[in-house]
Amino acid sequence: MTGLNVSSSLSEQTVERLQEQIPRVTDRDSLVVRCPFTDSELGTVPACQPADVTEAVSRARAAQSEWAGRPVAERAEILQSVGDEMLANDSELLDIVQLEGGKSRLDAHAELLDIVLTADYYARQGPDHIAPTRKNGAFPLVTTAVEHHDPVGVVGLIEPWNYPLTLAISDMLPALLAGNGAVLKPAEDTPFSALRAVELLVEAGVPEDLVQVVTGYGEPLGEPLISAVDYVTFTGSTGTGRTVASLAGEHLIDASLELGGKNAAIVLDDADIPTAVRGLVHGSYANAGQLCISFERIFVDETVYDEFCAQFVEAAEALELGASLDFGPDVGSLIGKHQLETVEAHVADARERGATVETGGRRRTDVGPLFYEPTVLTDLPGDATAACEETFGPVVSITPVADADEAVERANDTDYGLHASVWTGDTARGKTVARRIETGTACVNDAYLSMWASTDAPMGGVGDSGIGRRHGAEGLLKYTESQTVSTARDPLVPMPSVPNRLWAAGSTLTVRALRRLRGLSPLSER
Ligand code: NAD
Repeated sequence: MTGLNVSSSLSEQTVERLQEQIPRVTDRDSLVVRCPFTDSELGTVPACQPADVTEAVSRARAAQSEWAGRPVAERAEILQSVGDEMLANDSELLDIVQLEGGKSRLDAHAELLDIVLTADYYARQGPDHIAPTRKNGAFPLVTTAVEHHDPVGVVGLIEPWNYPLTLAISDMLPALLAGNGAVLKPAEDTPFSALRAVELLVEAGVPEDLVQVVTGYGEPLGEPLISAVDYVTFTGSTGTGRTVASLAGEHLIDASLELGGKNAAIVLDDADIPTAVRGLVHGSYANAGQLCISFERIFVDETVYDEFCAQFVEAAEALELGASLDFGPDVGSLIGKHQLETVEAHVADARERGATVETGGRRRTDVGPLFYEPTVLTDLPGDATAACEETFGPVVSITPVADADEAVERANDTDYGLHASVWTGDTARGKTVARRIETGTACVNDAYLSMWASTDAPMGGVGDSGIGRRHGAEGLLKYTESQTVSTARDPLVPMPSVPNRLWAAGSTLTVRALRRLRGLSPLSER
């Protein structure tokens, strides 16, 4: 385990410069941002108020029409420069993400690469996704139809603390490519990553006022933001997601909601155990378990359960906890006291209900005030809090199952439906099992990275894990309104000289002929 080694902090000048971007109608109270590694003050940002949100949205709206009027190729080029800017400033960004998020450098590094991959993907593929598309007209040769995609206007983004860089920026990039403006409300714990990243967007060529950041608490800012924007992207807990969804409904705007999970991994009897252990230890403790797609439940075929458990516990114990701004430690800190208390409550409840804590199960104040050991629970009863509710910490339960059928049944025994993984020596079998798990995404023989980094494929949850998708065409088209323009050679209305009855009979004949041509009429009619 690595002791406290946080040598750098945000300078006063940096904090002051970053604060300048935030619209404030008048002076505002300060919101103190703490460094989880030390629980000391990192800096302050204004606790914005509803009037600041109104100001931010009107600035973004004023800049949006010029941006939307630019050729999409120009917007795509700027997106590509976003990737360049992120890579050119990588070490400063990683420092900020670590200092306010408390995560390991490797976890921060994954955030940075995600932005680069997403920016490059939408720069390359985005223009095709939103290009006008010719559709089948109602009647061939007589009518045509073309689908166009216009920006919705200004997109509001409300983001959580666990991936403060990537969730703030990666979800915004397709909105910008589509020609929208954006107003971002980062989590109150982690505003600095977003603020620095938005500065870099401007350096990459994004017009200055197009992207606005309002810092502060969710409760006073959510309603004014959602009432003023044209679309809301929310990532966070299921509880807040419900509030956001009802506000979006009230204001009749569309929303995507990326929410919590209780993700399960399944280890089949033919899995390579060392590989599954390597993948799932990372998949359970990445970002100290504060990752929406990390695993909190592992179901293992009983024939390989003992072997898997022994190796998993050994690998969990080998992880290095540490507070340092280098690539040494594997696992960082929890974000704050609220998260530490949740984790402790879930483990205490598990213990009370008879679960065995195979390893972990305690704070590590010797490493930092908010560190918690990677923890493995076995014999966890199905009604324990850690079995049903999202812990969002470094706690995973391992449970033996009779076969793949029971594993799938147990994996699906939750209201959440975000992500899953299946481990097997037979990938065809793995894919079949994965298709039976009721989640928005699943991996075979990988924890989550191959799925997340497949930016061409949609990612999101079902059930209590949310609505809508990020990545791929869906992740871009949600930020557009489609307009269909159809053209007819002659109006499709009865001519004055043709009686309505004759017109109706002629139309029916045409539809019958079309159905026959398309192979849709009953066989007797063909
Ligand atoms: P949270 O719901 O507490 O907060 C998320 C954001 O919502 C913050 O910016 C917060 O200020 C804001 N907010 C709070 N109350 C609000 C209100 N009334 N109106 C509008 N906004 C409000 O979530 P959190 O604790 O920051 O994040 C952890 C949760 O996020 C976990 O459940 C995790 O699974 C989930 N998450 C999901 C994904 C995904 O892609 N599905 C990704 C990351 C995190």
